[in-house]
Amino acid sequence: MTPEQRAAELRDLLNRYAHEYYVLDLPSVPDAEYDRLFRELEALELAHPALKTLDSPTLRVGAGILPGFTPVVHAVPMLSIRTETDVTENGAFAFDASVRRELGLGADDPQVEYAAELKFDGLAMSLRYVDGLLVQAATRGDGTTGEDVTQNIRTIRQIPLRLNGNPPALLEVRGEVYMRRDDFEALNARQRERGDKTFVNPRNTAAGAVRQLDPALAAQRPLSFFAYGLGEVAGWSGMPATHSGLLDALAGFGFPVCVERDVVLGGAGLVDFHRRMRERRDALPFDIDGIVYKVNALVLQRELGFRTREPRWAVAHKYPAQEALTTVEAINVQVGRTGAITPVARLAPVFVGGVTVTNATLHNEDEVRRKDVRVGDTVIVRRAGDVIPEVVSVLLEQRPMDEVVGGDMFTPALQPRYSAFELPKACPVCGSHVVREEGEAIARCSGGLFCSAQRKEAIRHFAGRRMMDIEGLGERYIDNLVELDYVHGIADLYTLTLDDLLAMKRRADERDGVVPETVLAGKVATRWAENLIAGIAASKHPPLARLLFALGIRHVGESTAKTLADWLGSLALVRRAPAALLRVLPDIGNAVAVSIADFFSEPKNQQALDALLAAGVAPADEHAPSAKLRTQLDPLVLLAALAIPKLTETRCKQLLEKGVTLPALADATAEQVAGFGLPAEVTSALQGWLTDPAQAAQLHVLDALRNELLAQLPEQSAAEGMLSGKTFVLTGTLPTLSRDEAAAMIEAVGGKVSGSVSKKTHYVVAGEAAGSKLAKAEELGVPVLDEDGLRALLM
Ligand code: NAD
Repeated sequence: MTPEQRAAELRDLLNRYAHEYYVLDLPSVPDAEYDRLFRELEALELAHPALKTLDSPTLRVGAGILPGFTPVVHAVPMLSIRTETDVTENGAFAFDASVRRELGLGADDPQVEYAAELKFDGLAMSLRYVDGLLVQAATRGDGTTGEDVTQNIRTIRQIPLRLNGNPPALLEVRGEVYMRRDDFEALNARQRERGDKTFVNPRNTAAGAVRQLDPALAAQRPLSFFAYGLGEVAGWSGMPATHSGLLDALAGFGFPVCVERDVVLGGAGLVDFHRRMRERRDALPFDIDGIVYKVNALVLQRELGFRTREPRWAVAHKYPAQEALTTVEAINVQVGRTGAITPVARLAPVFVGGVTVTNATLHNEDEVRRKDVRVGDTVIVRRAGDVIPEVVSVLLEQRPMDEVVGGDMFTPALQPRYSAFELPKACPVCGSHVVREEGEAIARCSGGLFCSAQRKEAIRHFAGRRMMDIEGLGERYIDNLVELDYVHGIADLYTLTLDDLLAMKRRADERDGVVPETVLAGKVATRWAENLIAGIAASKHPPLARLLFALGIRHVGESTAKTLADWLGSLALVRRAPAALLRVLPDIGNAVAVSIADFFSEPKNQQALDALLAAGVAPADEHAPSAKLRTQLDPLVLLAALAIPKLTETRCKQLLEKGVTLPALADATAEQVAGFGLPAEVTSALQGWLTDPAQAAQLHVLDALRNELLAQLPEQSAAEGMLSGKTFVLTGTLPTLSRDEAAAMIEAVGGKVSGSVSKKTHYVVAGEAAGSKLAKAEELGVPVLDEDGLRALLM
């Protein structure tokens, strides 16, 4: 290819990328790739000046403006900044050297003073204030003409609409609109939850938001702003003489000015700032792509002046890019703490965001599909801050394709070499089935305690303070016990011996290459191990609710565990209760009921529980099922809880009135169902439901369990039920009872404790320093009790 051809090709590519980036806010390649091509064109033009065309991207700033916006002609052009791509300290020394040369300074002349600041990765904005009032906001556009985005900019709360102090009559402030990383992550998390397309990076999301034609939509995107310079100014008598002084003055007028800035001397000062900020980069709440060095004295800035598209007194000294191109070598899945299955792209190693990245998250199945990431693809990987690296998009034009039959000489038929990603049906770690609930973006391994990837976290949860409360079992011990194979499941904790623990410690020390002082002194510390064994033994008889919570069943938090314990009374019953029975318990919805039943339907979980019982773990407070269960075992309640399509509660009632029992329904033929006298569509829905043998079996199980429970239920005691259905809210500190004790007393007689006061609250129990809940109770006329009042009520 001749230099002419290559230059033309580069111009076309760069123009296309610039249009995608500046006009559409939708780049298809990372900045580093654009910068690489840009430099190649610059070098070509330098070597062959004849190749420099007037429309060369190297002579232009930004790009055109979007139709739909009113053009704004900038009184002072908005220029670009020369990029120093040598990310080492040489980049800073080179700039200092060029400034000294331009100013004609010799080796003996004093150091030049620079203002060093961050290069924010956002969108340049010019804000025009007349007599201290914001009158116009404009984008950079092509540097000469930008877009009027005043309406959208007004929605950014950080941008002052009226200035503080004594601003000049006319003040144009230049700065960067950007999106904080946490705001960006939260926005994308919301998009992901809703199954919507995610945004690529904060920079383009911010630019897209500012250039929304609908200000209401722009207002929904959380944007921020930093001021970093000036445009046109008139009537500023005390204007500072340095750039850093200007920034201080802008802060005084009410603009956000980034605190991470400094005034430094010479190349060494620049290098030092560059290094310090590089260390801070990941911890900053927003993306930066480098540092901007500016000659501090305005008089020197004027002396240095401008080149075509950039000032001579400033340079952008880049950091390693946060987005880079690489290829996908494989797509695997990882199993997380709650069994969440996350697809992960294995990448050809790539240096991005300052580290070498070999894996990037693909979040979930839908997201892989939406982005259509495949093996062999060239992708953009982003690693910014301490956020885990992610694949943001695919360069479809570079997808490996194979020729297949069907094409002709001119247009061969092609098909992608690799097929679209599919989530495995079984967990790659333990082989249990993978389930994805309706409406959920995340698929999970159903292996629970059995799955080794989940084991550590499961044990951590199990031993937690509000669960089994095992003293002395810290994170490090859990990791070692699992890694060195002493503990496969929670039950193994209870068979650990002193020798096991000491051997575990010795092996862990050997593996980590540490020899503790005590060992060097010929002694072995055993106290910790004795304490841990004692701690484990002491946890053997927890209340049933704590044990249920400790099992780590998805959707089962403290309060659901308590409901299960209170109503069903024993572990034996909880572990065999079908979802249809769980669903009739208070506050247990369909998803929770199914999740509990699913957990116990996994044989491995049942085995783990058996092992736990065999090791001597037994809840201390098991009892017969609560008498309150009687009303919930009413066939109508059970039938309605089955949520059979179209079978409303009224229709359930109708069926039962006809004498149809649960087992009769289970065994009913299609003709018999037709004879129930239900409307045609309900009849056919019911017939359809019953064709699934699992449903009929479920009805039989439910009926048998119902009969068994009815035979066991105690008669309702006078005390129990006394306050059943009454809701209490506790607030403030009671004189003798703790919050938990008061709640337990209320619940023991059938009351419910809730966290917030509403019209439905029956009593508020208030102690010392009760706050807004008490005020709310008084406002709503809810009776307020003190501790004595509560005790009297419970007597
Ligand atoms: P630039 O690198 O020339 O820098 C000038 C801009 O820096 C200003 O307009 C301002 O918005 C910003 N800035 C941030 N902090 C600043 C500070 N403290 N002081 C002064 N200015 C500050 O920017 P540019 O001309 O907009 O474009 C170059 C960038 O855009 C490059 O990083 C390039 O890779 C990227 N780009 C990417 C693509 C793509 O396809 N991915 C296409 C075009 C451009």
